[in-house]
Amino acid sequence: MTAEIIDGRAVAQDVRGRVAAAVAARVAEGGRPPGLATVLVGDDPASHVYVANKRKACKEVGIRSLHHELGADVAREELVTLVGELDRDPSVDGILVQLPLPAGHDSDQLLGQISPRKDVDGLTPMNAGLLAQGKIGVAEALELESPDPPAGLVACTPSGVMELLRVSGAQLEGSEAVIVGRSTLVGRPLASLLLAANATVTVCHSRTADIAATCARADVLIAAVGVPELVRGEWVKPGATVIDVGINRTEAGLVGDVEFDSAAARAAAITPVPGGVGPMTIAMLLANALRAARANRSD
Ligand code: NAD
Repeated sequence: MTAEIIDGRAVAQDVRGRVAAAVAARVAEGGRPPGLATVLVGDDPASHVYVANKRKACKEVGIRSLHHELGADVAREELVTLVGELDRDPSVDGILVQLPLPAGHDSDQLLGQISPRKDVDGLTPMNAGLLAQGKIGVAEALELESPDPPAGLVACTPSGVMELLRVSGAQLEGSEAVIVGRSTLVGRPLASLLLAANATVTVCHSRTADIAATCARADVLIAAVGVPELVRGEWVKPGATVIDVGINRTEAGLVGDVEFDSAAARAAAITPVPGGVGPMTIAMLLANALRAARANRSD
């Protein structure tokens, strides 16, 4: 079997187009464009590139981007005050604090300043808790066209994975889904989303006894680890759908968490790296900014 390659760039482009159309419709009806504030602290080159890409993407779909850049030595109180002000600013619909923060800053404390309705990264305890309790799920992750304010905001990379699974036609209900990685950013929220989609979910991590045997059961196999090619092709159940969240910079270039060629020889469908999950994260951020604007009743 040779797997169908799930084209994340094309799916992300489709989501961006749908967001752009919804923003244009909102403006045509007399509403203001959604406003997304980005907060970048320090001089980590990768973070600068990520934020620049997010701001460019906002511009392309008609979302207003407000940017705040601070040195790594900014006082903790100053940062907390800034995020608090953005949270009270009625023209700001969504707030994104680029993580990781430089040493000495407490990201939990800072995220605690963001109201759940402005939490476009879906990382505040309220949004993460609603997802974990099954009070929000696939609809909140994928529904773009609804004019109603969302019940909560879902983390962008997991939402992007769900959209790729939807587009690939993978059967989730009743399936065995295995996620490798239990991070707050990816593995845990994905487990909640897949449960909400009625999959039977197993989460593997660094202490799992037999990852190979667990992966071999998976109809849907998702790797979010950060270890190049940890998931071997021979672990993939023939006919499985494989989603590779990993982005690892190696001497050979960008590599995922899945051994691509051997996995593609067994899977029914697989995401490449790059060009799979990566483009989806920004697309879903734009979608969350639009949803956050619908939840902002201050204008
Ligand atoms: P993380 O470091 O926070 O979590 C990694 C998880 O993998 C942990 O739960 C850990 O228990 C598990 N793990 C580590 N080593 C393991 C091993 N040997 N066997 C089994 N499990 C192991 O990472 P993260 O933030 O979840 O990111 C994971 C990967 O996804 C990274 O490569 C990251 O760059 C990438 N990522 C990509 C996007 C995107 O937009 N495509 C977004 C977020 C993260």
